[in-house]
Amino acid sequence: MSPELLKLIQLQDIDVKVFELTDRLDAIPAERRQIEDLFRQQAAEYLGLEDVLASSREHRTRIDEDLATYEQTHEKFKSDLMRVQNTKEYATVIREIDATKKAISALETEALQVMERIESTEKEITDRAPEFAERRAEVDSLLAAFDSEVSGIEAELVELRANREVISAEVAVAMLRVYDRIAQTRKGRAMSEARGEIGGKGRCSACNMALRPQVFSDIRRGNELIVCDNCNRILFYRPEQETPAEAGAS
Ligand SMILES: [Zn+2]
Repeated sequence: MSPELLKLIQLQDIDVKVFELTDRLDAIPAERRQIEDLFRQQAAEYLGLEDVLASSREHRTRIDEDLATYEQTHEKFKSDLMRVQNTKEYATVIREIDATKKAISALETEALQVMERIESTEKEITDRAPEFAERRAEVDSLLAAFDSEVSGIEAELVELRANREVISAEVAVAMLRVYDRIAQTRKGRAMSEARGEIGGKGRCSACNMALRPQVFSDIRRGNELIVCDNCNRILFYRPEQETPAEAGAS
């Protein structure tokens, strides 16, 4: 086989690997997103509890503020009661006292309900925290595995591309152009081994197309670039794989 065909086979090994690795790199973001989305769904309920807790606590603060205001007003009316001049004023102040008392009592009931909600939410959060933390850690380690996979692939690609530079510099430009054009459309698989059959015929191993004896014998000489009529791959022949039958035939 010509040294250039050997170089093309080496290039193909590199290119196939480069295509596989870049395909993998392209697939990783979607896989990451899938894991993150699933986690967000699973976490939504738990994180929802924290939202409930936060808004309940705010509610509780508002009730306390309102209670303080009403209690102040209530005390003011009670002291007003000492200074009333007539029964009309007395009746008005008594009405105000009753109204604030009712408001205070309603707010106290509401405060109790909110406290109960806070306590039960706190308990639920505490109960579910370990499970949530475990799931979070699981997702973090999955995402970290993606990170290290990506940096591993990137390092490998740098090395493969450097090797490719070296090898392709040793191939004639015209030949390299033919190779590259085929490789680009076939995910790097630009080469196909021609395998011998009894009777001096051969077959393209990629598409299984039969090769005429003359073509196969040209491929075996390996002096020129021969492309499969059917699949357009560059054909090569490995002499070391010659079977006894073929050896006898040649
Ligand atoms: Zn073919």
